[in-house]
Amino acid sequence: MFAEVIVDIKTSQVDKVFDYFALENTKVGHRVMVPFGNRTIEGYVIGLKETTAYPIEKVKKISRILDEEPLILPEMLELSDYMIKNNHLKRVDTLRLFLPSGIRKEKVKPLLKEYVYVLDFEKDEARKKLRANSKKQLEMLDYIEPNNSYLKSDLNKKFGSLAVDKFVEMGFFEVKTERVLRNPQTKQKEDKTVELNDAQKDILEKVKEPATHLIFGVTGSGKTEIYMHSIKRCLDEGKNAIMLVPEIGLTPQVVSLFKARFGSIVAILHSGLSMGERFDEWQRIYSGEARIVVGARSAIFAPLKNIGIIIIDEEHDDSYRSESNPRFYTHDIAKFRAHYNNCPLVLGSATPNIDTYYRAKNGEYRLHTLLKRANNKEMPKVEVVDMRQEMLAGNNNMFSRRLQMDLNDCIKANNQAMLFCNRRGFASYMICKSCGWVAKCDDCDATLVYHKEDDLLKCHFCSRRYKTITNCPKCDSKYIKMGVLGTERVADELKKLFPGVKVLRMDFDTTQNKSSHANILEEFANTKPCILVGTQMIAKGHDFPNVTLVGIVDADMSLHYSDFRSAERTFDLLTQVAGRAGRAEKIGKIVLQTYMPKHYVYRFMANYDYKSFFEREINVREVSKFPPFAYIVRVLFSGENLEDVQVATAHALNEFNLLCEDNKDILYCRAMKSPVSKIQNKYRYQILLRLTNFGFTNLIDKVYNICDKYQKQGVSVFVEINPNNLS
Ligand code: ADP
Ligand code: ZN
Ligand code: ZN
Repeated sequence: MFAEVIVDIKTSQVDKVFDYFALENTKVGHRVMVPFGNRTIEGYVIGLKETTAYPIEKVKKISRILDEEPLILPEMLELSDYMIKNNHLKRVDTLRLFLPSGIRKEKVKPLLKEYVYVLDFEKDEARKKLRANSKKQLEMLDYIEPNNSYLKSDLNKKFGSLAVDKFVEMGFFEVKTERVLRNPQTKQKEDKTVELNDAQKDILEKVKEPATHLIFGVTGSGKTEIYMHSIKRCLDEGKNAIMLVPEIGLTPQVVSLFKARFGSIVAILHSGLSMGERFDEWQRIYSGEARIVVGARSAIFAPLKNIGIIIIDEEHDDSYRSESNPRFYTHDIAKFRAHYNNCPLVLGSATPNIDTYYRAKNGEYRLHTLLKRANNKEMPKVEVVDMRQEMLAGNNNMFSRRLQMDLNDCIKANNQAMLFCNRRGFASYMICKSCGWVAKCDDCDATLVYHKEDDLLKCHFCSRRYKTITNCPKCDSKYIKMGVLGTERVADELKKLFPGVKVLRMDFDTTQNKSSHANILEEFANTKPCILVGTQMIAKGHDFPNVTLVGIVDADMSLHYSDFRSAERTFDLLTQVAGRAGRAEKIGKIVLQTYMPKHYVYRFMANYDYKSFFEREINVREVSKFPPFAYIVRVLFSGENLEDVQVATAHALNEFNLLCEDNKDILYCRAMKSPVSKIQNKYRYQILLRLTNFGFTNLIDKVYNICDKYQKQGVSVFVEINPNNLS
């Protein structure tokens, strides 16, 4: 018997299958060690066969099998095939996704601990056998209970190892070594089971169907309760469940909610775990001990068998798209696994991805709508404040008079406020503070981005450049503003305005420690009054009953991000942020500061009118031929040698241009320096293509073929389809 083996080497340019003589017990999916050149390296068995096309004298033998049972399930091997084809990935890159990094190369070992088991004996009898002056032993005898077990190291610490050894010798204790699972720490939370209302019950019934469902429901409408009831139903049927949440939405609150309801059968997978914790959680899922996986994007690859439901919460979130190799879109993988397991896939959001809602409206997905909050409370009122008026009235502060007053009231009432300040991306835009005019590209209607190093405004979409200006072309005002408003400045300003009031800050800089995220939230939960300032990190999933005010310091910031999805993203983000206020008994309010108060995003957002926003947005996309009416394909070239990268880009562009000549399905094709022109010493160039939906299937393979040709030592070429951003 021969085994087809994929060897796990990082530098492998080719995705080659090698044939080896199989050992007796070799199964498909096994991890093995194989001789390779003059080394022995790790590999994966992806097939078994009777014959080989290699010269038989050159075929070597598998050295050993690393695990008793194959770690890569048959389902995952099929998924690997799918991803190779669909995402143009290398086999080894897909297989690596399926295993925790600690398992490969045996970086992490199972954690073993010694336990003492107290055998069955009479304490009084035992006491007689001990000497009267052996104080520690007598104390230990009082402490222990027959038929119980204790961690040996604990007893050693309390009573000394001599005493413990003595008890072993006397036959009171038996020592056993056992594997312990590293358990990610969580605080336990009281579970309150609620009875679903009629709207929720109705949806719960409908999402049984093995299809793709979209639950579109305002924040607080009780989606999470539907998820948990569906999962419960799955468990009762003997099946298992995966529930995905955005990375930053995976708060301790969500985790403890699930643990409180379902207990130890919940496994958690996210990037904050240590390698050992991840390894053990993975093992618990693989062995079937854990039956519910709650995790961020990569949890979609969990080795869970017999899946009864897959849920993607906040399905519109950008983090579901992997932006570095291996690139994939979580929804595609989830669809594959749902189909394989013949189970429902449930997407949920208050602000669905435009593409998702479009499919749901067209009947490709089943649409279920929740119009009201579960507790029947009104959505908090959104007040849009015109920052141009503030300036005219002589207020140059970053906070409007409205926001200052509301903050004051909030603090006086001993409540809490959240101030949101989105500093997304690396660059700033140019805006007139008097009239709200924003510098835009003449060709693309995209906001221009200021590049400090060459003092130019650039369009990230077509790479056209513009000189910076000092006077507004519309109203001639010289109050042209540039630069971003960071969380740090907002927090400083607050401390000045409200001395003595606790101000907390949560952003990338303040959450570098493993537990800092949880600590900040915990401190916020326990402090009144208090103001929490943060980036989009504070937008998701948090449920603080005392938050009565949410301030959005500069709503326009993400709107001006140069991208066809910036309106969509702004709507999502602001809706999410607004959803933090007035969740419980107290009435909430949102103050939204903008220089463009009439913009349709704000108009619809202030009324929580996603549907109208969707209609408006989908029309724009249709007319301008953007997704879902076309595909954007970015081909990214990067490498350490600038000339190599430029040459590869130029040659590839030639080929693309040839392709364009006789093909109307290519709507756009240009090459340019990437907006972030260098990352980690690698120069970046890109070719942007826009393809019609009709032409996509046909053309994408041609695109891949061209890219493979220029993928060589020193230059890497990646294809991204409808990427999150074009930096
Ligand atoms: P979403 O996920 O849509 O934001 P949740 O499921 O988290 O909403 O529900 C929001 C709040 O309403 C939670 O505190 C939850 O416990 C409560 N809730 C949900 N469903 C019900 C219900 N049927 N009856 C009472 N309270 C409910
Ligand atoms: Zn442009
Ligand atoms: Zn102006």
